[in-house]
Amino acid sequence: MPAQAGIQPSANLQMFFKSWIPAFAGMTDFCRASLTIGRVVYSKKEHKMKTRFAGFEPIRHDRLIQEQRHDTYKSKHKLVEPTVCPQCGAVYHEGRWQWLAKPAQAHEEMCPACHRIHDELPAGYVHIGGDFFKQHRDELLHQIANQEAKARAEHPLERIIKIANEDDSIMVTTTDIHLARGIGEALHHAYQGELEFHYNEQENLLRVVWER
Ligand SMILES: [Zn+2]
Repeated sequence: MPAQAGIQPSANLQMFFKSWIPAFAGMTDFCRASLTIGRVVYSKKEHKMKTRFAGFEPIRHDRLIQEQRHDTYKSKHKLVEPTVCPQCGAVYHEGRWQWLAKPAQAHEEMCPACHRIHDELPAGYVHIGGDFFKQHRDELLHQIANQEAKARAEHPLERIIKIANEDDSIMVTTTDIHLARGIGEALHHAYQGELEFHYNEQENLLRVVWER
């Protein structure tokens, strides 16, 4: 895992998480209670899960409800519209980054996804492993690529940064926590297996583990 010293969680990011899970919005105590429930449910794995990722809390994946879309590496100032990303060509228009034709006159600023790629600071980490994975590696990689293509076509900020080989497993890093979640859910939907979410609220990072 790369050094995380550069990430300073802003109030916006905190708000992002709260709005991401509407049931938790403004309900900090309830949020903590739910995380506690999550731990009880996962008690058999608690030790393993806790030692696996320092600073991350396990979250029940079925608790993650429809989220709103926000930038996760948001510009500190309000972007002028239109702004175009010189790296990927995404256009900031009507309050969000979109795939649009380059406007004749546009400000230039790197989009949050290109920024994360440049800084090598992923928002999502998806660990994928297990015997089934080993036997169906190509098929699963194809599934992951499809998932990214779908997400990216609609949401320019949802991209895979890289897929790293780790012994018999892989680590997929993403520019956005929604894509990390989406990859985990797609694999779980298609092949069942075990799916875990671990959230670092302070730094707004999501670790997803899928194994089969
Ligand atoms: Zn970009």
